[in-house]
Formats: sequence, structure tokens, C-alpha cells
Amino acid sequence: MGGEGAGAVVYSAASVQRPIMTTISANLQAVLARIARAEQAFGRPPGAVRLLAVSKTWPAACVRDAARAGQRAFGENYVQEGVDKIDDVADPALEWHFIGPLQSNKSRPVAERFDWVHSVDRARIAERLSQQRPPDRAPLSVCLQVNVSGEASKSGVAPAELSALAARVATLPRLCLRGLMAIPAPTEDFEAQRAAFRQLRMLHAQLCAEGHALDTLSMGMSHDLEAAIAEGATLVRVGTAIFGARPTVADAVR
Ligand SMILES: *Cc1c(COP(=O)(O)O)cnc(C)c1O
Repeated sequence: MGGEGAGAVVYSAASVQRPIMTTISANLQAVLARIARAEQAFGRPPGAVRLLAVSKTWPAACVRDAARAGQRAFGENYVQEGVDKIDDVADPALEWHFIGPLQSNKSRPVAERFDWVHSVDRARIAERLSQQRPPDRAPLSVCLQVNVSGEASKSGVAPAELSALAARVATLPRLCLRGLMAIPAPTEDFEAQRAAFRQLRMLHAQLCAEGHALDTLSMGMSHDLEAAIAEGATLVRVGTAIFGARPTVADAVR
């Protein structure tokens, strides 16, 4: 995939201007404050929403700075960039989430090195991840990515096929089905943001009614995390608001 190469190049470029520690720390505190305010405003218990810091395109030094400021969970979109960064940061206290589109031929390093995958959208990928998950690691936590109406990316299982995919994934021994993820089309309209997230919440409730013990709704990014929290997000994936605008236009729209 073209994006894979682009991500790797940006990551390794020594010339990338990176935000300094104090900026990352201050941005993290600001995002945590936004989350806390939204929890309170929409009747969610304090601490109901976890923050995933999306470090794609940013060098390992930025992850270390965020970790020093207390952040534990990091999200990556590109397999090689993510694995290189996991090695580079080498901090066993951190938790790594793969959130990007995943091709079958790149599933092995993800199964071996990540703690979570948010972007499972077909049985074949799930089967490979389960087969390739090393026996000495805990089962890989997975979310199914759903293509809610108007989703910007073409990734994601159609809502009509979600129930069958969840049933299949639940049988795979080395995976733990945790919940759902979506990336709705960007919009500035708060009610439109909520409507897309509500769709994901209803699908989540439907799967729970079918007997799946799900605890995760992965939805909301820098520009729409309040709407996601209003609709029940348990994990928001935030890049720009923590690390700044990503270095390339191609990455900025992902
Ligand atoms: C890049 C990305 C994010 C973070 O987006 P921001 O707008 O920078 O907060 C979240 N989720 C996924 C799947 C992404 O690819």
C-alpha cells in the first residue's frame, strides 16, 4: 500500500520538526481535560473514557515524551513504522494499538508485536491474526471496524455483515473480541457527529444482546471526541490534538 511507504519515510526523516516535550505534555493535559469535561457534560462516570495517543508519523522521541507525561496507550497505522517504533521506544509499560488498514500479508508482525487491533473488518484477517498470535502472549484484543454510513474510508465491515463476522471472531482462540471501531466522515456539525457515533453504539448494543461480552467502543478523534463521548465512547483515538498537525498532507487526511 502506498501509505505504508509514505508513513515510513516521514518517520525516519531526521528533518521532521517535532513538538517539544513541554508542548506534548501540555497538549495531553488539555485533551484529558476535554475528556473529563465531556464525561461530566454527558453523564458518563469519571474515567469511563480512555485516551489512545495516535503517534503515527511522529518519531519515537515523541512517544517517550508522552510516556514521561503519563500516557500509556499508543496507536499506529502503518505496520513497519509501528514495529520500528515499538523496538525503538522499548518500554514494556506501554500498550500498542494497531488502528490502520491491515493487509493479510502484513498481519504477522501485528499479531506478534501489538496488544490491540482496532481495524479487523473481515474473517480472513481475524483468522490469520489468531493463528499468528504467539502462545506466550495474552490473546490479541480486537475491535471490528464498521463502515457506518458516510464513513470516509472504505475500510470496515458493512453493518449488515457485522453479526456474522462477530460470531466468527468469537470462535478464534487467540483473539479477544473487545468491541467496535468506526471513523465517520468528518463534519463540523455536532448533531451529525453524534448521529454517526449513535449508529455504532446501537450496533454494539445489538452484539451484546447476541451474547458478546464487549467492553469497548473505539470512536472519536481530535475534532469529534466530545460527540463520541456523548454517545458512549470508551476509548478516543487522538493524534493531532496531542502531537500537532502531521507533517504531510497525505497523512493529515488519514
Ligand atoms: C490518524 C487517526 C486518528 C487520529 O486522528 P486525529 O484527527 O489526528 O486525532 C484516529 N484514528 C485513526 C484510525 C487514525 O487513522
